[in-house]
Amino acid sequence: MSKVKSFSCSECSVRNCYRRDKSYPAFCLTEEFADAAESTRKLYRGHSLDGKLARAAAEIEGEYYGRLTRLEETIRFAQKLGVKKLGIASCVGLLDEASLYAKIVRTAGIETKTVICKVGAVDKTEIGLPEEMKVCPNCAESCCNPALQAKVLNEWGSELNVLVGLCVGHDAIFNRHSKAPVTTFVVKDRVLGHNPLAALYTSKFYYKRILDEKTFPKPREK
Ligand code: SF4
Repeated sequence: MSKVKSFSCSECSVRNCYRRDKSYPAFCLTEEFADAAESTRKLYRGHSLDGKLARAAAEIEGEYYGRLTRLEETIRFAQKLGVKKLGIASCVGLLDEASLYAKIVRTAGIETKTVICKVGAVDKTEIGLPEEMKVCPNCAESCCNPALQAKVLNEWGSELNVLVGLCVGHDAIFNRHSKAPVTTFVVKDRVLGHNPLAALYTSKFYYKRILDEKTFPKPREK
């Protein structure tokens, strides 16, 4: 594959799709997907949930750009959508933060229901994990259960679900099972105080091993 063929937006320096005051590069996805872009114009203009979400998100950006924190933006977003029931899918390690978050959301007049990741209390060995791979071998140790978190919130009738620190991968399962749209308040990073971007900010010097292929050896075939 030629180098240009493998380029995408991460290799683009003009970003002409934003202000349209330059030229598109040879590998531009806006040009390649012009027909599909037309159908998304219709999608976002319409009365479907996608249209409502798209317009509410753009309005939040326009009204509060750089003035509100993510916490406030998320609540304003829910209010704009007319959400009355907001589900919170929380990590066990961030339940105190989720409790405070729920209190703040309720202050804004929105009902909440919080479901912890360990709901259902299914032991890790029951899903095929060897005992020695537990954080605490020979202890009862429940696996995260994002599909059940989503089911509880689906049955409650949440209109918007918010993630508070679900693990990488568990968030993917939750998103697959949630009936309501999902937005993220906290991205878990156990090492960096839930600020994964710090890994990029320090990658030029202190954390340059992140750009060394040896940091990511290929997993063994099973
Ligand atoms: S869509 Fe085109 S112009 Fe926009 S960032 Fe991607 S390659 Fe660049």
